[in-house]
Amino acid sequence: MASPKPTPASEVKYLKGVGPVRAEIFAARGIRTLEDLLYYTPFRYEDRTRLTRIRDLVPGQTTTVFARVLTCGLMRTRRGVYIFDLAATDSTGMLRCKWFNAIYLQKNKVFRSGQQVFFYGKVERDRFGTGNLQIIQPQFEILPEAEAEGGDSLEVGRVVPIYESIASLGPRVLRRLMWVALHALDGQIPDRLPASVLHKTQLLDRSTALSQTHFPSAEQDLEKLCSFRTPAQVRLIFEEFFSVVAGLALRRRKAKSLEGIKFQVRESARQAIRKILPFHPTAAQKRVLKEIVDDMCSVRPMNRLLQGDVGSGKTIVAIQAAILAIENGYQVALMAPTEILATQHYLYVKELFRPLDYRVDLLISARKAPEKAELKRRVAEGTLDLIIGTHALIEEDVRFARLGLVVVDEQHRFGVLQRFELMRKGYRPDVLVMTATPIPRTLALTLYGDLDFSVIDELPPHRTPIVTKLLEERDRQRAYDFLREKVRSGEQAYVVCPVIEEGGKLDLKPAVRMYEQLARNVFPEFRVGLLHGRLASEEKEGVMQRFKQGDVQILVSTTVVEVGVDVPNATLMLIEHGDRFGLSQLHQLRGRIGRGSKQSYCLLMADERRSEVAEERLRTMVETTDGFRIAEIDLRLRGPGEFFGTRQWGIPAFRIANLLRDQEILEWAKREAAEFVAHPPSREEFETFAAYLRSEWPRRYGLAGVA
Ligand code: ADP
Ligand code: MG
Repeated sequence: MASPKPTPASEVKYLKGVGPVRAEIFAARGIRTLEDLLYYTPFRYEDRTRLTRIRDLVPGQTTTVFARVLTCGLMRTRRGVYIFDLAATDSTGMLRCKWFNAIYLQKNKVFRSGQQVFFYGKVERDRFGTGNLQIIQPQFEILPEAEAEGGDSLEVGRVVPIYESIASLGPRVLRRLMWVALHALDGQIPDRLPASVLHKTQLLDRSTALSQTHFPSAEQDLEKLCSFRTPAQVRLIFEEFFSVVAGLALRRRKAKSLEGIKFQVRESARQAIRKILPFHPTAAQKRVLKEIVDDMCSVRPMNRLLQGDVGSGKTIVAIQAAILAIENGYQVALMAPTEILATQHYLYVKELFRPLDYRVDLLISARKAPEKAELKRRVAEGTLDLIIGTHALIEEDVRFARLGLVVVDEQHRFGVLQRFELMRKGYRPDVLVMTATPIPRTLALTLYGDLDFSVIDELPPHRTPIVTKLLEERDRQRAYDFLREKVRSGEQAYVVCPVIEEGGKLDLKPAVRMYEQLARNVFPEFRVGLLHGRLASEEKEGVMQRFKQGDVQILVSTTVVEVGVDVPNATLMLIEHGDRFGLSQLHQLRGRIGRGSKQSYCLLMADERRSEVAEERLRTMVETTDGFRIAEIDLRLRGPGEFFGTRQWGIPAFRIANLLRDQEILEWAKREAAEFVAHPPSREEFETFAAYLRSEWPRRYGLAGVA
């Protein structure tokens, strides 16, 4: 029986060479169809038409060498480091390859003498041994025997695509499967870009683009290929940006056409705000509040992102918006990513609202079942005005009587879908999401394209910039003396320890040990507290509360204090193993101090042996407190893949496009998408494209709700 002709939508499990096991592996990566598979594109290419002979290798050069394995084995140095050492030859000379701690190479018997292997990496001269040429930790690909003997090869004599392995599926397997998939489809891959856009941009058609991205023809300029600028690659990058940007634009347009709640600014709201405001808002706070209030008072549902660096004072803006909603007879939900932050908001708001008769409560999963049930009942009845909580708020059985305003704090910690889930609990409520995470601004505008955007670009008055110092173990005593002096004079301090992951388990020992050490031996005269994620909720709350009241003077903590925590009297932060934290995380942590008018100090304790990247992160922290600069450097150091992990940002993860590398293509795609959405050449073309987005968007980018 002839099987039906495959289409891009066919499931990858029916492809020759993909059994149930591989299908599982692909599925775990979100690759279900042939189309998904083909959009898993090479991350680099190797020119195997002109292989460098070992004799011609030059130290410092990064290249591919094709050679036969002579000997290999595991060695152990005097310092106890395992090195897998391999010698190979191509009849013109000898090359050594070394992998550190690569016990698995030995255990899995990866190499045998006689194998033909491609090695890729940076050639250098062995400084200690014989002065041989070597490559440290090369990437490699072992040629199977059949192909080494010649024949139709995807591996030699051509420009070869290199894929990132997916679990056990290495580049060679992937290359073979791509080849099979392209042949199965035989050029029958319909284009999805609107015809008018294709015509105008003169981009390559999709079928050709995919085929040439995987298997570039021999004439293709390798340099262009490796910088992702061949016509084929540009076409795919453009397509991805175009779809995402157009999708966001359509979603935004749809949202703008809906009718939601029209709040009114009454005298009662003004009075309530006047009663509770603890300080004069800054000009920036006033400006963004006006933007929010204008949105709330229009009939369109608000969808606004409020961005402001750590400590810029976003909370009070959200609270004023909440008052407006409550005075209009609606309920407000405020969601925060951690129990500590939700609890802190709750305690702060309860205190602030004392002069008003609002009913406020806290919903976190740690509360006792009967309390939770009672809370949910009151939310459903409408006898609670403001409910503050964690993810617990989006649980199925939380129902609101008349939810009017949703506030999501530290929104980058949530996925986009969670925002939608909370929104669905009301009838088109207004939504305000807040983040301190400073995304480079142009990117933010594009990527949160369905949100309006407000920025607090000014810190509250009388802030003294934080002084940051880089220290090493030998400075520890001085650091402790300094801390002692500050605490004696009535200020408070954080000591932050990393949580170490060991074999998939989180190890809290460093924090616990530090706590014991400080409490018993170093600062017996002070009250020291311990805070980490594993403590019971009441304990966490208790410690936080005592720190807030100044009862605990030194708080030893893991990164649970990273976001949102606000104790202005804390002016000193000592960060242990500062080299182990990411840059944005250090910035967030440091944002816990410098919140009052007193001079604050951040002491970064770093291991003497640290990587270059760690060094650059630490130096950046010492040099600047500007969140935007820090974000830009972080983006550069980490690369966009890691920087924009889907979950972390709640924005789509791109498959071939790269936000850092492809900014000019993004700009181009943005212009074309805006033009297309505003003036589609025909209704039919528009509908076809919108239908495609509707079917593809939710699955591919984890987003929903287009047009
Ligand atoms: P973030 O934007 O990081 O959430 P917060 O809202 O926690 O910042 O505010 C940081 C600190 O600054 C808090 O202690 C807050 O009370 C204080 N603050 C905010 N706005 C002002 C202001 N206009 N004047 C004085 N202090 C302010
Ligand atoms: Mg905050």
